[in-house]
Amino acid sequence: MAKGKISVQTENIFPIIKQFLYSDQEIFLRELISNAIDATNKLKTLSAKGEFKGEMGELVIDILLDKDAKTLTIRDRGIGMTTDEVKKYLNQVAFSSAAEFLEKYKDEANIIGHFGLGFYSAFMVASKVEVKTLSWQEGAEGTTWICEGEPSYSIKKNDKTDRGTDVILHISDDATEYLEKSRIEQLLETYCKFLPVPIRFGTKTVTRTEGEGDDKKEIKEEVDNFINNTDPIWRKQPSELTDEDYKNFYQELYPYSPEPLFWIHLNIDYPFNLTGVMYFPKIGNTMEVQKNKIQLYSNQVYVTDNVKDIVPEFLTLLHGVIDSPDIPLNVSRSSLQADSNVKKITGYITKKVADALKDLFRKDREAFQQKWKDIGVFVKYGMMSEEKFHEKAQKYTLFENLDGEFFTIEEYKEKIKDLQKDKHDKLVCIYTTDEDGQYSAIEAAKARSYDVLKMDAVLDAHYMQHLEYKANEFVFVRVDSETTDNLVQKDEKKESVLSEDEQNKVKTYFESAIDQKSATVELKPLSPDEPPVVITRPEFMRRMKEMQMLQGQQMGDFPEMFNVIVNANHPIVSDKILKDESGRDDTIKHLYDLARLDQGMLKGKELSAFIKKSMALFN
Ligand code: ADP
Repeated sequence: MAKGKISVQTENIFPIIKQFLYSDQEIFLRELISNAIDATNKLKTLSAKGEFKGEMGELVIDILLDKDAKTLTIRDRGIGMTTDEVKKYLNQVAFSSAAEFLEKYKDEANIIGHFGLGFYSAFMVASKVEVKTLSWQEGAEGTTWICEGEPSYSIKKNDKTDRGTDVILHISDDATEYLEKSRIEQLLETYCKFLPVPIRFGTKTVTRTEGEGDDKKEIKEEVDNFINNTDPIWRKQPSELTDEDYKNFYQELYPYSPEPLFWIHLNIDYPFNLTGVMYFPKIGNTMEVQKNKIQLYSNQVYVTDNVKDIVPEFLTLLHGVIDSPDIPLNVSRSSLQADSNVKKITGYITKKVADALKDLFRKDREAFQQKWKDIGVFVKYGMMSEEKFHEKAQKYTLFENLDGEFFTIEEYKEKIKDLQKDKHDKLVCIYTTDEDGQYSAIEAAKARSYDVLKMDAVLDAHYMQHLEYKANEFVFVRVDSETTDNLVQKDEKKESVLSEDEQNKVKTYFESAIDQKSATVELKPLSPDEPPVVITRPEFMRRMKEMQMLQGQQMGDFPEMFNVIVNANHPIVSDKILKDESGRDDTIKHLYDLARLDQGMLKGKELSAFIKKSMALFN
C-alpha cells in the first residue's frame, strides 16, 4: 500500500472545510452527485465519439445508505479513474481547487450557491472518505484511495470489476443526520430533482391494481426509487409542449398551488446560455406573498432559490426556473451585480416578460383584463422599478373605472380630455380607494359626469405618483380630496349669495363651535343642492401619510388633516346660521357631525353621543 502526502501547504484545510459554510454543509451531496453526473456524461461523450466501444450498461447513479456501517455511498457508472488519475485529480486538482476556493472566500459569507468546493466538501460530513474506482480504459486496474481528514492519504489496488466510481463517506459523529433516510431524501428532493442522469435511492413500495370487477385486487410491489426527472420541460422546445405540460410542471415545482395565470418559456443561446420557465402566479391584491420562489439551476443542478441579484426585483414575484451555466456561481454578490453576463440576463428576462404581456394584451384583451388584478401588481411594480419596463408597459397598463371598464393610458386620455382638464391643461384623474367610504363624494362626482377610477391596490399610491412624475400630464385627485366643483380646478368665478363680510362671520361661528385643531374651515359657494357641510382631505397631505405608512413608518399621533367646507349657498348656512342666533352652535355641531358621519369619522363615544342627540330631536 502506498502512502503519500497531499501536496499543498495549507495543512489546516480540513478543519477549515469542516467549519466552513457549516450552515450549508448539506451541499456536499450535490457536489458529489455532480461529479458522478460529469463522469457519466463524459462516458457518453466518449461513446458518441467512438473512443469508448464497450457496453455502457445502465447509466444510473446510486445513493446507498448503510446505517450500521455508518456510510453513505455515491456510486456512478461513469468513466472512473486510473491510479494516475486518482493521484492527479483527487490529490492535486481537487485538493488545490478546494484550498484555493477556501482561501478566496473564507471571509465571504455570501457565496451564491457555494459552488466550487467540489470533492473535498465530503469532509464537511465525513471523517474518512474512500474512493473505489475503475477506469473505462482497457487494462485499467481498480484503485482505492482513502483519506482520513488529514493531509495524508493511502492508495492501493482493488479488484473492482464494474466500471465507475464509489465515493464512500464514513459519516462523522457530529453529522449523523446524514445517516437518516428522510434527511437524504430531502436533500435529493432539493438538489437533484432535475438532474440529467437517473438517480436511484433504494426502493419504494407502490400499489398497483390488477384484474376487473370481483377479481380486482391490489398488489404491493417494491420498485426502484428514482428521485429525479431527467428531462424537465425547460430543456425542451416550447413547440413540443402543451398547456397541460406547463401546468403539471408547475405542480411538480409547487405542489398544491393554485394554477398559474400564464407562463413564459425562456430559451436563448446567444450571447449567453439560458433556459427556463417563468410562471405568473395568482397574487391578487397583495405583495406579501411568495417571493423567493424562482429556482436557479446550472445545467439542471439546483443552486439556490435566492435569485434577487439575477432577476430584477419586481420579477421575484414570479415563480419558476432559470437554468444557466453562464451565471457565475462561485462569486460574491457584489461582483455578481457588476457581472456583464448577469446584467444581460436581467435585461433579457425583463424584455421577455414585457413582450409576453404585450402579446397577451394584443391577442386576448378580454383575458388580460380579467387577469389584471393579478398582473397589475407586476406591471405597476415593474414600471416603477425599471425604466425599460416602464417604456414597454405603458402601452398596456390599465386603468379600471367604477363601471368596470378598462382603459389604456391613451384611451383614458381620450375619455376625460373634455371634462377633466385643469387650468394648467393637465388631465385630472379622479379616483376612489374605497367605494363605500367615499360614496357621497363619488355620487357628487358622477352627477357632474366625471369618471372615477378604482385605485385600491397596495401599490397604487406610489404608482399614481410615478405616473404623474413620468408623464407630467396627469394629476390624480381622490374623489373626496376636494369639493366636487373643485376636483377639476378651473379659474372660474363662482357666485356667492353671501358678502365677504357675512362669509367671515359664518367662518368664525364654525370655528368657535367645532373646536377642531386639525381641521381648517373654509367657505365655498357650492350649489344649494349640495350638502351644507362637506369634509375633504387634501390630496397632498393624505398622500404623504399613506406613503409613509406603506413604507412602514409610524406617524405617531399625527392627526389626520382635513378641511371643513361650508357651503355658503346652502339655505341653512345663509339663513339660519348667519341670521338666527338661537341654537346656532347646536346646528353647526350637528351639520359638522353629519359630514363626519358621512366620512366614517364619527366613532365610539362621539358616535353614541350623536345618536342620543338625534333621538332627542323627537322628544
Ligand atoms: P471539479 O469537479 O470542479 O473539477 P472536484 O474537486 O469536484 O472538482 O473534482 C476534481 C476532479 O476529480 C474532477 O475534475 C474529476 O476529474 C475527478 N473526479 C471527481 N469525482 C469523480 C467521479 N465520480 N468519477 C470520475 N472522476 C471524478
